[in-house]
Amino acid sequence: MKLIKVSVAIYACTTMTHLNASEYHQKKISITFDDIPIHGEFTLSAESLKKINLKLLATLKKHDIKATGFVNEGHLKDNPKLLKSLLTEWQTQGHSLGNHTFSHLSYHKTDLNTYLKDIKKGSTTTQAVLGNQKQKFFRPPYLHAGETNKTQHALFQGLHQLGLSLVPVTMENADYVFDAPYTVKLKEKQVSMAGEYKKQYLTFTEARFDFYENASSKMFDTPIPHVLMLHVNQLNADSLDAILTSLKSRGYLFQSLDKTLQHPVYSQPTQAFKFGIHWLFRWDKSKSNKVNWATEPEPSSNAFVDHQQAITTLNKGKL
Ligand SMILES: [Zn+2]
Repeated sequence: MKLIKVSVAIYACTTMTHLNASEYHQKKISITFDDIPIHGEFTLSAESLKKINLKLLATLKKHDIKATGFVNEGHLKDNPKLLKSLLTEWQTQGHSLGNHTFSHLSYHKTDLNTYLKDIKKGSTTTQAVLGNQKQKFFRPPYLHAGETNKTQHALFQGLHQLGLSLVPVTMENADYVFDAPYTVKLKEKQVSMAGEYKKQYLTFTEARFDFYENASSKMFDTPIPHVLMLHVNQLNADSLDAILTSLKSRGYLFQSLDKTLQHPVYSQPTQAFKFGIHWLFRWDKSKSNKVNWATEPEPSSNAFVDHQQAITTLNKGKL
């Protein structure tokens, strides 16, 4: 295991010596989506799921980007036909399909054996769609990767045995907070109110991008390739074009997760955390401590209240 890490780091360093200065300083990012077929706080119709997934795929195609999506097979356990057809769309359009457990379990509330069994179960349909290609990426639900160094290490070993690597996140934008009220307003046909939530979301996303760029330039001498985590939801289906356009105008090149994870920053160990948090925070807290994380932008308290009310409405199934 150690040997693999060292060789990855050497390979990445050797590769970098062949890059010219502008390539070396080029900003790069990989786009990832959690919760294919849908981020699961509430139930949407099969028709909505289809539309959301296809719209995300159409926008990725428009920008010529290959993304990675992490699958929750359990979300469509009652409709395996739809699950298979959605996964086939992602796969045939050249995106990579990772594992996000079958039941969206928290590792912090589950014993390792049960957790690994759930991961295996969550690969069934995906692996059938992938055919000869082997699934290789894993994203833990809630970013729960072990509360102690011991349980974190045990998870990494278990994943390694399954041929999976845990995929870190370096940028995220709390999309789920804005998505629920946005979805409610759309369903109530209050389009301009929905537009307000989308506007708030995109403003917040820019603030987060600014913060993460700043934080990573404090932590590292040159830009690191980022991994953006988005969720499969209505809000992102309708906002992805703006988000990708913003990243392009910030100077990012989009690249595959394979390429991004070759950067040595992704091989460094981190201490375990009791809460689910992105890896810029983990790396900084484990090592350099250069960033004032108290200034990381958070959604307003009103946004959280609106989110909670919207979830209640959606769960009542009134709409
Ligand atoms: Zn998830």
